[in-house]
Amino acid sequence: MIYLDANSTSMIRPEVKDITDLLLQHQIANPSSVHHYGRNARAQLQTARRDILRLLNLKQNHTKQRLVFTSGATEACNQMILGFLGPLVKLGLSPGHIVTSAIEHPAVLETVSLLEKSSWKIERVNPNAEGIVDVDAFVSKVTKQTALVSLMAANNETGAIQPVMEISRKLREQGYAGAIVSDFTQVIGKALISLEDYFNAGVNAIAISAHKIGALAGVGALVINESSELTCFSFEPLIRGGSQEMSYRGGTENLFGAMVFAAVSKNLSQTLAEEIARKEELRELLWNGLKNKLPFIKRLTPNNSDTETKSLSNTLLLQVEGCRGDDLVVALDLEGLAVSTGSACSSGKQKISHVVTAMGLNLQQAREVIRISIDWSTNRQEITDSVDIIARIVSKSRERL
Ligand code: PLP
Repeated sequence: MIYLDANSTSMIRPEVKDITDLLLQHQIANPSSVHHYGRNARAQLQTARRDILRLLNLKQNHTKQRLVFTSGATEACNQMILGFLGPLVKLGLSPGHIVTSAIEHPAVLETVSLLEKSSWKIERVNPNAEGIVDVDAFVSKVTKQTALVSLMAANNETGAIQPVMEISRKLREQGYAGAIVSDFTQVIGKALISLEDYFNAGVNAIAISAHKIGALAGVGALVINESSELTCFSFEPLIRGGSQEMSYRGGTENLFGAMVFAAVSKNLSQTLAEEIARKEELRELLWNGLKNKLPFIKRLTPNNSDTETKSLSNTLLLQVEGCRGDDLVVALDLEGLAVSTGSACSSGKQKISHVVTAMGLNLQQAREVIRISIDWSTNRQEITDSVDIIARIVSKSRERL
């Protein structure tokens, strides 16, 4: 089998074994316990926070930045949106207006839709044909009533990197006082970023997930910029029931998951630039191979250049004219190649992607999409084999046209 579906989840990295061994040797207790075992667990959790923040290039003043462990990015996205509403009500900005993009993950879209039911006004900004939100178009939607802005750092289907920093900087320059939050789930490990720069530009909180970088599913984090005035004001926890995580999230922490997340982050911090360059090279090898054999295939992921990084290094979203994406995914799986359609898939049925339709594809075109996402474990041979498999399966499917 060849696995090219890393944006869905990454293959688990070997660090999981080191942490399993460590925990079996030194049983670690509840981080809230006062005894020796509890203190050890607390120390491990603190180290884990530091190692994950380092992967995000957040080196400065750790007391001002809070990394709160969650059950994943879905919870962190819910929390980063709903958590600010309490403080915003006190600022007189609620029920008000939220500006987001039309291409967010359902973790954001469904959370803002819930607010819409209780009289919040939601503006969902479409991207351009490359899947990138235009800075001025987005900023122009923000009004005096806007309480919260939520824009993902990179899209999970197209890999298109969004201008979160530019938008944030512009909004703060214009005196915007509401919250700015961003879903960072896909960007970590796949693009060189500095969270410090995002926070300096005025972003208040971000959401991340462990299983997108080769750690375990069911663990994620919310990183809050506590140096911003808005955050100091207050932040309401979504999950209540204990004073864990500095009272930001109730419930005993998933220490094993947090430690694996940290171990993977720590090693990845050392090799990130190299890994990104390798994935980018493999992605372009794949694209050039496919383009040669299947000239009608369309690339929906933006190209990177020496001067501009417009997409995640590992993602290639394709429109294969004349083939249904869901049929291709099944046919490729039978040939030993795991890819996806990119859009959320429930009960085995392909949903029409809200991302590619927002980019302007019609329903027929939106059904012709497959997403290939290269993982840390992918090698060159697998890419050349994948070109052959995809070319063969696509040609065979098109013979039936
Ligand atoms: N946001 C984005 C952009 C994602 O791609 C995903 C997962 O696919 C999530 C949020 C949800 O992450 P998790 O599986 O950790 O809840």
